[in-house]
Amino acid sequence: NLDQGPEGLETPIQVVLRVRPMSTAELRRGEQSALRCSGTRTLHVRPPGGAQDVVFRFSAVLDASRTQEDVFQACGVRRLGELALRGFSCTVFTFGQTGSGKTYTLTGPRPQGEGVPVPPSLAGIMQRTFTWLLEQVQHLGTPTTLHASYLEIYNEKVRDLLSSGSPRPLPVRWNKTRGFYVEQLRVVEFGSLGALMELLQMVRSGSRSFFSLGLSRRRSSAHTLNQTSSRSHALLTLYINHHTMSHMDPRVPPAGGKLCFVDLAGSEKVAATGSRGELMLEANSINRSLLALGHCISLLLDPHRKQSHIPFRDSKLTKLLADSLGGRGVTLMVACVSPSVQCLPETLSTLRYASRAQ
Ligand code: ADP
Ligand code: MG
Repeated sequence: NLDQGPEGLETPIQVVLRVRPMSTAELRRGEQSALRCSGTRTLHVRPPGGAQDVVFRFSAVLDASRTQEDVFQACGVRRLGELALRGFSCTVFTFGQTGSGKTYTLTGPRPQGEGVPVPPSLAGIMQRTFTWLLEQVQHLGTPTTLHASYLEIYNEKVRDLLSSGSPRPLPVRWNKTRGFYVEQLRVVEFGSLGALMELLQMVRSGSRSFFSLGLSRRRSSAHTLNQTSSRSHALLTLYINHHTMSHMDPRVPPAGGKLCFVDLAGSEKVAATGSRGELMLEANSINRSLLALGHCISLLLDPHRKQSHIPFRDSKLTKLLADSLGGRGVTLMVACVSPSVQCLPETLSTLRYASRAQ
């Protein structure tokens, strides 16, 4: 029964923490690690100056030695996939400051060059989920179609990354049957497993298909923090539709689940990037979506919550994630941090945001 939400879950929002390895630049500068994982769920933060450790607990804590496959396993993404196959809306999002490993965790490392494939062992959560989903769909009794859309939210404007036309912003609308949706968003159907595999391959290899064009069209600008700081939220959504006999009527859309992968914009504060003027405004609207997301999540999870109203309408991001966050879905948040003591202020703000969300 979809109205009652996925059963047997303590909370509809799971939070996993991933600590990336020290980068060569951090090592070269002789930076120390401020983080220590103990067991599988606990993180100790050692503030400089010998103050007492601050301790955080999450559903899972993954230290720098953990592989992409470990992360996929520990995140329980298969469970989300199963729910999506049963008609629920599920979301996986990565959160953290620029350079903390969000994109790496979700889609793997950047290909070294055109046509240079990324080894399958480094594939991210997204590709692993695709592969898993395809195997499942093959074994289902009912004919199932898969569609995908890919968009970015930049300055509170939605842009279709799969559309070849002029990239004008698309409106987000709401109606009773669909909930929140993006008007005129291009949705690409995968007629066969092969087509989806081909697409997967193109994403992996970074070849210049329209799809990976989508990947490379994401806005980024030279921040002082990182050359390719991502300033937009990117949402890749898979739509799963089962065509049962009762759905042979072409006027009735088949019931289906959704699996959304969100690479959030960097969560760093404006002050830390040295941004001014237009960039400052932009950082504000990045934060508007992130703050709205944090606010909705903490309201949803507050056991003493009096009001039933959740302010999903406060930002584009929360509108588009409303069905995953509220009631009819499950959300997985992967919080990403650098171990370096230099990143500690941002790391602490990521950890606080993430622990509020569980
Ligand atoms: P973000 O998307 O949060 O800005 P990236 O995913 O681009 O961060 O990661 C920053 C850099 O660190 C990239 O060069 C990436 O390949 C590398 N990196 C991130 N996480 C890992 C990891 N777990 N193992 C190895 N390299 C990583
Ligand atoms: Mg990124």
